Amino acid sequence: MKTNIRTIIVAVATVLASVVSIVSIQAADYPTKTVSIVVPYAAGGPTDTVARLIAQAMTADLKQQVIVENVAGAGGTVGPARVARATPDGYTLLLHHIGQSTAPALYRKLPYNPMTDFEPIGLVTDVPMTIVARKDFPPKDLKELVAYVKANKDKVTYANAGLGAASHLCGTLFMSAIQTQLTTVPYKGTGPAMNDLLGGQVDFMCDQTTNTTSQIKGGKIKVYAVTTKNRVASLPDVPTTREAGLPNFEVGVWHGLYAPKGTPKPIVDRLSKSLQLALKDTLVKQRFAELGTEPEPENRATPEALRAQLKAETEKWGPVIKAAGVYAD
Ligand code: ASP
Repeated sequence: MKTNIRTIIVAVATVLASVVSIVSIQAADYPTKTVSIVVPYAAGGPTDTVARLIAQAMTADLKQQVIVENVAGAGGTVGPARVARATPDGYTLLLHHIGQSTAPALYRKLPYNPMTDFEPIGLVTDVPMTIVARKDFPPKDLKELVAYVKANKDKVTYANAGLGAASHLCGTLFMSAIQTQLTTVPYKGTGPAMNDLLGGQVDFMCDQTTNTTSQIKGGKIKVYAVTTKNRVASLPDVPTTREAGLPNFEVGVWHGLYAPKGTPKPIVDRLSKSLQLALKDTLVKQRFAELGTEPEPENRATPEALRAQLKAETEKWGPVIKAAGVYAD
């Protein structure tokens, strides 16, 4: 009997040892094939733009193709659910934003846990938002917008990327700040929402500068304010929400890169290094600056910094969302 147990223990230990050595061989060689970054919103939108710039720079460093896969739907919760279930081998990653911290309060039945189902790789960038409208929308500034929206609440439409999107969060904050409920029109991302704003099918939205800057500069849409404490260098004439008359209205869209839980540490560390390099890439820095955002510094593009940010933001937004009474079953 004793011998049997010993034999089993030895066999299990041998199997474990070989699994460990296979994993470390894989980690040492990593990557040997295409790496896919899942973006939980539509192509052509703000998260997609950030992901594609990063993917390009990481491709150069990892010497393997890093591609972006758009897995949109349910306010950005379909993509993370897919990555949470993916094989934790470093070939399927997730680039997601503030929605990782708001989804647990918004969804009663979220099919994944943002805190425990992922290995954080690092923070990417914190993107300002802008309150924008179709070009011929009557209000001229933020004060007029608030008055107009209140007076026309039954006909004004607000576009967003679904429950869990940054545009949804910003809209919720706006509606509670002005104490007016509006008709919202959900899209699979603010890429398609922007198309409808340009076409005049919806009235206004709150979206990231990574999606709105060129349309604002081209005079294709109207802008009322940026949602950050300070003005944005690429849009120097646009007032902050505080300056324009909405104090206590601040939101920045922080982004992080994640791998599925159980991804070997050497692979997570390799990806973290690669992300840090990507954030110093000249083209990334230049495009981010043109789009009103900045790369996170090296000490923030780390697993520890992203883990801490996710925890702090989950604790920050949970009560705000509960107080607003917004949720999905
Ligand atoms: N980031 C989303 C997108 O890329 C939009 C949002 O969160 O509002 O479409």
